[in-house]
Amino acid sequence: MALHFVLVPLFAQGHMIPMIDMAKILAKQKDVIVTLVTTPMNASRFEDTISRARFEHGLQIYLLIIPFPCLQVGLPLACENLDTLPSRNLLRRFYNALDMLQEPLEHYLQTHDPPPSCIIADKCLSWTSITAARFKIPRLVFHGMSCFSLLSSYNIKLHNSHAFVSNDLERFVIPGLPHIRQKIEITRAQLPGAFVALPDLDDYRDKMREAEMSADGIVMNSFEELEKGCVEEYQRVMKKRVWCMGPVSLINKASLDMFERGNKPSIEEKQCLEWLNLMEPRSVIYVCLGSLCRLVTSQLIEIGLGLEASNRPFIWVVKNADENSSLELEKWLEDEGFERRVKGRGLLIKGWAPQIMLLSHPSVGGFLTHCGWNSTIEGVSFGIPLITWPLFAEQFLNEKLIVEILKVGVRIGVEVPVRFGDEKKSGVLVKRSRVVEVIEMCMEGGEEGKKRRDRAMRLGKIARRALDEDGSSGFNISCLIQDIKDHQSSKGEA
Ligand code: UDP
Repeated sequence: MALHFVLVPLFAQGHMIPMIDMAKILAKQKDVIVTLVTTPMNASRFEDTISRARFEHGLQIYLLIIPFPCLQVGLPLACENLDTLPSRNLLRRFYNALDMLQEPLEHYLQTHDPPPSCIIADKCLSWTSITAARFKIPRLVFHGMSCFSLLSSYNIKLHNSHAFVSNDLERFVIPGLPHIRQKIEITRAQLPGAFVALPDLDDYRDKMREAEMSADGIVMNSFEELEKGCVEEYQRVMKKRVWCMGPVSLINKASLDMFERGNKPSIEEKQCLEWLNLMEPRSVIYVCLGSLCRLVTSQLIEIGLGLEASNRPFIWVVKNADENSSLELEKWLEDEGFERRVKGRGLLIKGWAPQIMLLSHPSVGGFLTHCGWNSTIEGVSFGIPLITWPLFAEQFLNEKLIVEILKVGVRIGVEVPVRFGDEKKSGVLVKRSRVVEVIEMCMEGGEEGKKRRDRAMRLGKIARRALDEDGSSGFNISCLIQDIKDHQSSKGEA
């Protein structure tokens, strides 16, 4: 009998996009059917991709589109993804709405043939543990992070290391990383959001932790060679199997799949390619701070002026917190003549960028990133040195991996996060002169810069092999499929 995987993502681009890729990876295996749970607004962003996977590539991926109960929980209409959430205060309602997907999903699974064989659910959706138990099937948790950051957080919590420093900016060593040669230090301010008490979400987080502990395994968008021994160690402390199946973005080989990954881009493919093709190999700096960037306009202006002063070709993905800030920035871009001054040398993408298509182009030679895990592994996969500007979540830990362990990036030098809701308080953290300086270090940087670029290239080659059938992730995927098959057969015999 075919295996039927049910994938339940968190509706945030950084979690949903890798799960869509994962759906493709699984459906490519023999006799595997995948159901991907989504909502109408989210589906509108990627259903063309799924149709292509079905009708052009012959993959059995089906969308289960469940209405998102915005009105019932008091969210604005069509607020179905974290990138459309207007305020931090609505986060709890968003999670409440996610909880309400359980019933319609279970109803679908009861009536659907073939029955489910395995659930892969985002770590935020703790109720999937009840669903999996009801259907007597294995449940795997998807984190959307690296093993390095998960293991670091686990060890800091275990040893309570952050309680022994006198203030938020004092450095302390991350314990429990004996397999990493050097000591890695962090400050309390830079720890992921999970270390910050949030009275309105703490009960939700407790449930998430419980569901993670009771899961049958963990799947990761990573590859073992990247994690420097952290997979084994994380597996040991969690007492469960950790399956690295990445870099998942590499499943997108056709140009349209690369172009439309995750959303409809705010630029034409032809315009992008024509512009990139005019540039020298490895000469362009690509700037994108993720799907949730809410920096204040004055900070965005500093980035723009830094890019202009760098005198290098650049692609700048401009995103704003809300309509007001967008208008403010738009006014600056036009009225102050920025767009006119950088015409030809700078390509601005206002909205959604076709990130992996851009990163895969030979003209791109540097990536200024917020160190979101997907962006990190995507930059690494294409052998591009990174400029790191962590903003929130576990991004400061990812920066440590990039700069201090893998040595494929340069820090822009931010010391504190910009958390959702606190953007105005943070103000300008990086001045234009620093933007110019790090671009120079990343794109040139003398002997050290050359070594960094060589390391990035080597790592890119390893990344691109990982998903091959005989690569480390390819092997993990086969083992995972075999495990679920064995579970299904033993259930049939029982
Ligand atoms: N992304 C994209 N275009 C954009 C912004 C983001 O394709 O304009 C993709 C990016 O390639 C990555 C994901 O969205 O796969 C963002 O995930 P990440 O973990 O890097 O950061 P987050 O947005 O979750 O902070």
